[in-house]
Amino acid sequence: MIEHAVIIAGGGPTGLMLAGELKLAQVDVAIVERRTNQDLAGSRARGLHSRTIEVLDQRGVADRFLAEGRVAQIAGFAGVPLDISDFPTRHNYGLALLQKHIERILADWVAEVDVPIYRGREVTGFAQDDTGVDVEVEGRCSRAQYLVACDGGRSTVRKRAGIAFPGTDPTVSNLIAEVELASEPPWGVRRDAIGIHSLSRLDGKEGVGVLVTEQNVGRSEEPTLRELSEALIAVYGTDFGVHSPRSISRFTDMARQASAYRDARVLLAGDAAHVHPPDGGHGLQIGVQDAVNLGWKLAQVVKGTSPDSLLDTYFAERHPVAVRVLRSTLASVALRHSDDRTEALRGTLSELLTMDEPRRRLGAMMSGLDVRYDLGLTDIGARHPLLGRRMPDLDLVAAMRPLRMFNLLHDARPVLLNLGAPGGFDITAWADRVQLVEATYAGSWELPAVGRIDAPEAVLVRPDGYVAWVGDSSQHGLVDALTTWFGPPTSLSSLGGRRTPDQRGGWSSLRNLQAVIGFEK
Ligand SMILES: Cc1cc2nc3c(=O)[nH]c(=O)nc-3n(C[C@H](O)[C@H](O)[C@H](O)COP(=O)(O)OP(=O)(O)OC[C@H]3O[C@@H](n4cnc5c(N)ncnc54)[C@H](O)[C@@H]3O)c2cc1C
Repeated sequence: MIEHAVIIAGGGPTGLMLAGELKLAQVDVAIVERRTNQDLAGSRARGLHSRTIEVLDQRGVADRFLAEGRVAQIAGFAGVPLDISDFPTRHNYGLALLQKHIERILADWVAEVDVPIYRGREVTGFAQDDTGVDVEVEGRCSRAQYLVACDGGRSTVRKRAGIAFPGTDPTVSNLIAEVELASEPPWGVRRDAIGIHSLSRLDGKEGVGVLVTEQNVGRSEEPTLRELSEALIAVYGTDFGVHSPRSISRFTDMARQASAYRDARVLLAGDAAHVHPPDGGHGLQIGVQDAVNLGWKLAQVVKGTSPDSLLDTYFAERHPVAVRVLRSTLASVALRHSDDRTEALRGTLSELLTMDEPRRRLGAMMSGLDVRYDLGLTDIGARHPLLGRRMPDLDLVAAMRPLRMFNLLHDARPVLLNLGAPGGFDITAWADRVQLVEATYAGSWELPAVGRIDAPEAVLVRPDGYVAWVGDSSQHGLVDALTTWFGPPTSLSSLGGRRTPDQRGGWSSLRNLQAVIGFEK
């Protein structure tokens, strides 16, 4: 029997990212994947949003994606482009890169950190008890403490868990294909009363990319060349002699979201938790970001440093993010048509989005930079605009050397960043989990969609890059924040009776800092 602390069903983008996160936290994790290799049939995501590039940068792997894709202003809403080049982030752009390449690069990373992937096998069911989950893999039983469903929109695990998946039924159906055409078509996008269509040359390849709205919804899941031909004729009056399909896929505007992301020891992430139309290109982004939110929490629960209840914050934080995405994609679908009224509405929206404030707001939303988690804090001192938001990738100076904030997050450990007078913090009781870094920062503080904010003296940053506490050397509320997010304090006796050299939790952070800024041998 295969045994792992965590078994992930599905090795798409979400499952791969989650596996990497758990492995960085030294959790024994494995993926069970139905596909025999990472090849992806059909066309899916076409790029990465700014925040997704940031989370990959937090782990030190963004360059691998940037080296293969094309940086571009890809954010947009309902076909209206949103330029984010003036946003306060190192990655004030998106990246054009096909999902098959994104998955390949993620899979290479996961292989490097040594996550086993059981390929060509399918999770068919499970049974859970108080201590773990028996995961059924095609009739064979594997055992794990937790099972995470990253098995896509038709998730077997979600269905077996009996988790409801409410939402809206499809009203529009599209075919997306890579084919050959016998005659030259009118290139570009066309809109009409039934929706949007486009014919485009494929980047660096022979063939044509086709997107066409079908006349009816409710056809079978596996589309045929004949159905593609019929859909083209209905829109263009001809099928341009379509032949030799490399891929044909169907997608709809169905939007659904799981009513819970957890049933005891079974969790859902990515498309298994939410599906929606591809407008705006959010699916892969929020799946990867689900994984980054869940990974460190699950790792702490598995290792016994945090109570099981920490996992409830995963739903509390990530469910609202998908609610907003579902809403924006449905709004976008409503604007796909081209009748007089819709054109008038799109024109009005385009005008509005030339104004700075609406562009900033929507640009931040569509690129994932405006996420703010509700940390459940009611204290007046807990109103700093950074709380619950992404920590910017500051250019710090530590130990008289330049240091990027994101470099401190490469190994997915929390950071208490002291930007005030050195020596003001004592986190000895969390020194085995939290890095204390003394640094200075001379620049301004600015957040996407929010603007300038007051410089904080100290910030506690979670492994996912979101800020859990802001304060000063009075440390007001710090113990609560450390306990809430990283578990109760460790008694010195359980640290082996050793005080750390500076007695304030700085030993491990100093070692870590040396490694990060590159003078540890
Ligand atoms: C036409 C189209 C265009 C899109 N465009 C974009 C875009 O531009 N931007 C964007 O961000 N997103 C886009 N998406 C959405 C994006 O493709 C998905 O959101 C993303 O793939 C979700 O990742 P995932 O890992 O959660 O699920 P999936 O990618 O669906 O991965 C699930 C994995 O689980 C495996 N699996 C399934 N069942 C089992 C089982 N029982 N046991 C073991 N393994 C199993 C599957 O083989 C698969 O590898 C698009 C989708 C479509 C269809």
